[in-house]
Amino acid sequence: MTPLKHTSVPEFGKYTKELKKLIEEAEHILLICHINPDGDAVGAMLALRRWIISQGKEAGMISPNALQQFLLWMADVNRIVDFHHDQENGTRLINEADLIIMVDFNSTSRMGKAEKLVLDSGAHKVMIDHHPDPGQFAELIISDVSRSSTSELVYFLVKGMEGEEFNDSDFITAVYVGIITDTGNFEHGYYTGDTMRTVGHLLDMGVDKEKVFNHIFSNFSPDRIRLKGYALHNRMVVHPDLHTAYIWLTREDLEQFNHVKGDTEGFANVLLTMKGVVLSVLFIERSGFVKLSLRSKGSFNANVLSRQCFNGGGHRNAAGGEMKGSIHEVVRHFENTLPSYRKELEEAAAEMIR
Ligand code: 5GP
Ligand code: MN
Repeated sequence: MTPLKHTSVPEFGKYTKELKKLIEEAEHILLICHINPDGDAVGAMLALRRWIISQGKEAGMISPNALQQFLLWMADVNRIVDFHHDQENGTRLINEADLIIMVDFNSTSRMGKAEKLVLDSGAHKVMIDHHPDPGQFAELIISDVSRSSTSELVYFLVKGMEGEEFNDSDFITAVYVGIITDTGNFEHGYYTGDTMRTVGHLLDMGVDKEKVFNHIFSNFSPDRIRLKGYALHNRMVVHPDLHTAYIWLTREDLEQFNHVKGDTEGFANVLLTMKGVVLSVLFIERSGFVKLSLRSKGSFNANVLSRQCFNGGGHRNAAGGEMKGSIHEVVRHFENTLPSYRKELEEAAAEMIR
């Protein structure tokens, strides 16, 4: 089947039908999300599993590594096998599976250490995602960049398979988590009328929006708040002429504030609230490499920059990547490369004040 471009097209029904058939015929279903999973990856996986359960089936779930602490309250998260820490169970689930559904990523490398086993598996494979330029690694590719989140896409797929709204409370919560994570509670990212109609339905069905918001956005330690202040005060660099700002944090910085996974979430977005800034980057030093988070505004394509310079990818306005070396080497590489994007940066900045 040709890859799906936009799920609003009339052919959408074909995809839901095909997905439903694969689920019905499967004996051992496995759902897998991307490494360092965010609320959308986990939300999409949990939501789809709820529907599969409602069909009298089971589905195993794998995350390539540990979940962030702010997601651990969600129903059934304890069923997600962390492949990094439990390769035995993860390997068993992959080897047993006759249907593997990959959610919220467009490139197989995003499965980390589970990548090879999944690629070698003879199971039917489905990809459900909203990132641009999906790789062709599944027989059924349900890729729709017009969706705010993979969770929103799962909502519409499930509605298609169910034939009506699927009003299961854990499903509703999981979809809501995915949407508000990928849009920063509707502050950034990409969302449409369809997203808001979906959210409207979720609210009508009684999703506990305060509870979800508090778990995801009001769940920080004092150290994390201090780290943010430190990063903004001591580690922020602004290039007004290039419409760019970034933050760099060394391993010592992170240790000083007892950093835990997820603490730097949202730092790059803050920089975009500066007038004239259309590109922001967060550099985080790990052992031997640096992890980057890129955010952009308007037409400036952070995905392209990340692919070209940092072996990464993502969306136009939110991307990530990695580079070997010390934080100083990676930041220098960025500083040297950035001027070659001057034209695109200036164009995006001009659009902001049109
Ligand atoms: P974040 O900055 O929140 O880690 O990631 C932002 C976006 O970029 C997400 O859509 C995420 O899936 C994608 N992303 C993050 N890191 C990488 C990476 O190393 N490779 C690729 N291909 N995408 C990434
Ligand atoms: Mn997503």
